[in-house]
Amino acid sequence: MKTIGLIGGMSWESTAEYYRLLNELTRERLGGLHSAKCVLYSVDFAEIERLQTEGRWDEAGELLAEAAKALEAAGADLLLICTNTMHKVADRVSAAVGVPLLHLADTTAEAVRAKGLRRIGLLGTAFTMEQDFYRGRLAGHGLDVLVPDAAGRRTVHRVIYEELCLGVVKEESRDAFRSVIDDLIAAGAEGVVLGCTEIELLIRPQDSPVPVFPTTRLHAEAALTHALATS
Ligand code: GLU
Repeated sequence: MKTIGLIGGMSWESTAEYYRLLNELTRERLGGLHSAKCVLYSVDFAEIERLQTEGRWDEAGELLAEAAKALEAAGADLLLICTNTMHKVADRVSAAVGVPLLHLADTTAEAVRAKGLRRIGLLGTAFTMEQDFYRGRLAGHGLDVLVPDAAGRRTVHRVIYEELCLGVVKEESRDAFRSVIDDLIAAGAEGVVLGCTEIELLIRPQDSPVPVFPTTRLHAEAALTHALATS
């Protein structure tokens, strides 16, 4: 089994999910007392969030690149950035190391394509929904990406930073997300990408009339497949 390196803490609420899922999936696939081989570098999310809001992406990229190098030195054979948003600096991170980085948008797009869907709604932080680094990468896989209107995007972004990243799950926010999802479906979405690693703490498959794509679970599954591959 290869060792999975996690660049986490963005937020730790979802990184804890990565850790749980990697271990549960390893037990499912290998049985017995098997658990995932992994190393975690967990950052202080307050520092990252400040760099995001101040648009200091180069510094954020440098910080995560240093984390990636530390993980490689600690024995990681492959790396995950445990947040969709920080894939904005994925190129910077992967250039810093010799081990592969499993890009979350690629993993997600492959799951959408495997279900035979093409037109999908995307929920995430404003950075993820509004900028090209993530949407463009999905589009590069042949997907047609829809995002909520400005009010919907504001709601989703606010709930992520003010609630989910702090471990707060509110029924009223679940209702608000359901209504944003309904609008995306009305606009033609055949599925919805939960493109922020905390959203699946709030939205479950039963909250959406169309398939949802939980990026934390998909990323963990893909990492494990990679870690267990013989070549
Ligand atoms: N975990 C979130 C994501 O997947 C948001 C936190 C962050 O800004 O990194 O985008």
